[in-house]
Amino acid sequence: MSIVQIALPVPLNRLFNYIYPEDVKPVIGSRVRVTFCNRQMIGIIVSLYENNNLDYLQDKKIRNIEDILDEESLFSSSLWKLLQWAADYYHAPLGAVLSHAIPVLLRQGKSINYDLKWLWKLTEKGNLTRIESLKNAPIQQKALKLLRQRPIICDNIKKNHDITNKIMHNLHSKGLCTLKKNYFSLQNWSDNFIIKGEKPKLNKEQIIAINTIRKEDKKYSPWLLAGITSSGKTEVYLQIVENILIRSKQALILVPEIGLTIQTVNVFRERFNAPIDLLHSALNNKERLAVWLRARRGENAIIIGTRSALFTPLARPGIIIIDEEHDSSYKQQDGWRYQARDLAVYRAYKENIPIIMGSATPAIETLYNVSIGKYRQLNLLHRAGNAKLVIQQVIDIKGATLIGGLSPVLINKIKCHLHAKNQVLLFLNRRGFAPLLLCHECSWIAECQNCDHKYTLHRYKSQLRCHYCNHKEIIPNMCPRCNVKNLIPVGIGTEQIEDKLSNLFPSIKIIRIDQDTIRNKDSLKKYIDNINRGEPCILIGTQMITKGHHFPNVTLVSLLNVDGALFSSDFRATERFAQLYTQVSGRAGRADKQGEVLLQTYYPKHPLLKTLLNKGYFSFANQILLERKTLLLPPWTSHILLRAEDYDSKKVVEMLQKSRDLLENISSQDKFIWFMGPSPSLQHKKNKRWRWHLLIQHPSRKYLQQLIKRSLPLIYDLVPESRKVKFIIDIDPNEF
Ligand code: ADP
Ligand code: ZN
Ligand code: ZN
Repeated sequence: MSIVQIALPVPLNRLFNYIYPEDVKPVIGSRVRVTFCNRQMIGIIVSLYENNNLDYLQDKKIRNIEDILDEESLFSSSLWKLLQWAADYYHAPLGAVLSHAIPVLLRQGKSINYDLKWLWKLTEKGNLTRIESLKNAPIQQKALKLLRQRPIICDNIKKNHDITNKIMHNLHSKGLCTLKKNYFSLQNWSDNFIIKGEKPKLNKEQIIAINTIRKEDKKYSPWLLAGITSSGKTEVYLQIVENILIRSKQALILVPEIGLTIQTVNVFRERFNAPIDLLHSALNNKERLAVWLRARRGENAIIIGTRSALFTPLARPGIIIIDEEHDSSYKQQDGWRYQARDLAVYRAYKENIPIIMGSATPAIETLYNVSIGKYRQLNLLHRAGNAKLVIQQVIDIKGATLIGGLSPVLINKIKCHLHAKNQVLLFLNRRGFAPLLLCHECSWIAECQNCDHKYTLHRYKSQLRCHYCNHKEIIPNMCPRCNVKNLIPVGIGTEQIEDKLSNLFPSIKIIRIDQDTIRNKDSLKKYIDNINRGEPCILIGTQMITKGHHFPNVTLVSLLNVDGALFSSDFRATERFAQLYTQVSGRAGRADKQGEVLLQTYYPKHPLLKTLLNKGYFSFANQILLERKTLLLPPWTSHILLRAEDYDSKKVVEMLQKSRDLLENISSQDKFIWFMGPSPSLQHKKNKRWRWHLLIQHPSRKYLQQLIKRSLPLIYDLVPESRKVKFIIDIDPNEF
C-alpha cells in the first residue's frame, strides 16, 4: 500500500496524506479526487509518503483516494520546479499555487483528453465471433454488427445508434474491439509560417538588438530591451520570434492588458501564418482549456496573454517576451501575490530559453538587475522611421484661471493643433465628474459608508460612486446634515472636462476613454478605429490610454494634473510618475509629425520634473536608483509586508503588533533588520474592513526569507486572532 501527499486548494499551508490504490503507480503532478472535510475535492499528488507503518495509518485514520483523474503529470518538469519554488518563495499554500496554474475546468476535474476523439476498432476476434453469441446482450450485439459494417467507429456514430461507452467497454473487455485515442491532426505550422511581405528596413540599433539576442537564443539569456516609445520594439520581437518559430519552438508573450494591445496582436497575426492563441479574461472556461491543451501539445506557435498566462505549459518552449515589463499589472494583488516578471525569468532559466523584457520605462528593479549583471541591456534610443522626438514644456498654473482644469495657454495650444488638422490627447487620471461633493453651507462631504473614501460624483448617471468598493447611491438633493440645498462638486474628472471641451470646441469630436465609457475590448476597438480615421478630435483619457497605443495623428499631449505624485508618501510614487509621464508623452507625434507635450503643474521648478524633462527617463531612473541606495530602500534591500484586515480595527493592530514583537524577538541578534508599523494601509478601510500592515526590511533577501519561514507557523499559531483576521503575506510588495 502506498501513501501519497496531496496538495489541495485550501488556505492551509501543508500537504495531506491519502492512501493510493496498491495496483497503480502514483504519478507526481497528476490529479486525484479525494474527500476532505466531508467534501469532494480535487488535489494534486506532490510526493510519495515513505512511512508505510500500519499503526501510523490507523492512528491518523488516513482515507483512500476516491478516483484517479490523470495518467500523466499536468506539469512539465520545469513548470513543476517553478511552481514549487514560487510556493516556497511567496509562502503560499502549494495547493493554491498549483490550482492557480491550471485552467478552471481542470480544477473541476475535466479530462485533459476531453477534446480527443476516441475510436473503437474491430479486432480479429471481433471479426470471427458469432453474432448470436451475444444474443443475451442485444445492444452489444448491435454494436458489434455496426463494427463489422465499419471497422472504426467514433463518438458521433455511437450517438446516432444509442450506444454508450459502457457497451463499448463491455465489448472491449471481451476482446472484440480495441480503443484508440486520436489527436486532432497536429497542426504543422512550422513549415510554412512566414508571410512574404515587406518588412521595414531596420535601423542600426534594431539590427544590433536582433543580432545580439539571436546569437544566444538557444539558451537562457535574460535581456532588457530598453527602447523609447515608438522606437520599434515590436519589430525586434517579431524578428526574434521568427528565428524561434523557424526551429518549431513556441513563443510565450506576456502583455499587461490584452484589450489594450489588440494592435500588437494584429501585428503578429499579419507577420506570421502560424496559429496564434490569446489568453484573456473574455475567454470562457472551455476556450481557456483548449488554448492550454494546444500549447501543451505544441499545436500553437505563439501564445499571447496576461499575467497568469505565464503558467501555460509549452511542449516546445522557445522564448518568453514580457512587453511593458515595468507595468504594475504583472504583480498579482490578491490570492498569492506573485510578480509574474520575476517568475518568468525563473521559468526561462529552468527551460533554458531566452527572455526579453521590453519597456520604454524599465522598472527600477530591472535596471538594478542590469547593474549587477543579472540581465543585459540593449537600447533603442531613436524613434523608428521618420518619427521625431517630442518637444516638452511645462505650464505653470499658479494663479491661472482654469476652465475645467485647462489653462488659457493650453486651450490656445489645443486650438493651434486642431487648426492644423491634428489630434489632441489630454490625460487626467480621474474618472467621473468631480472627486468630491461638498455642502457649501456646512462643509459636509459625501463619503462611502463601507470605505474610508469620498464619493466621486458621476453626473451622467446621476450617481455617487465609491471607487474602492463600487458602491453606488443617487445624488442627494440637499445636505443630509444641515438640510440646505447647496451641494457643489469640487475638483475635476474626465466627465467634466468632456463637458467643458464641448462648450469650448462645439464643432470638434470629443472622445472620452475611461472605465466608464469602455466596457469591453470591442468598445475600445471601436473608439480606436474612430480615432485612427484621423479627423481632428480631442481624446480625454485615464491610465487606459497610456499603454501601447499608436495614434499617428496625435500631435499634442497634455497631462492636466499629476502633481499629487510628487508628494506621495509611497517611495515608489516618483518612479510611477516618471513612467506615466514618459508613456503618456510617448503618444505624441508617433508618425512623421512633430509632437508636443505640455505638463500643467503648480511646481514647475520641482527638481524631479527638471531631471525628467531635461534628461529623460533613464537619467531620472538612475538618479532614483542611487537615492534608494542611500536610503536603503529596495532594490538595495528586500521588503516583506504582513497585511491584515478585519471589521474590528483594534484586532488587526493587536495581531500585527504581536507579530512584530515575535519577529523582533527572533531577530534580536541582527543589526540590519528594520520594522515599520503596524501602519494603516493606503486603502485604510474598504468594504467595511480595516486594513493595516507591518513592513519588514533587510538588506539580505535570504535572511528575510529564513526569518519568515521560521516565524510564520508561530505567527499563525501563537496568535489565535490571526485565524479570524484576514492575514496576507506580500513578498516584494509594490504598494502599501
Ligand atoms: P514601440 O513599441 O517601441 O513604442 P512600435 O514597435 O510600436 O514602437 O513601433 C512604432 C512604429 O514604427 C510602428 O508603426 C512600426 O511599424 C514602425 N517601425 C518599426 N521599425 C521600423 C523601421 N525600422 N523603419 C520604419 N518604421 C518602423
Ligand atoms: Zn450641509
Ligand atoms: Zn466604498
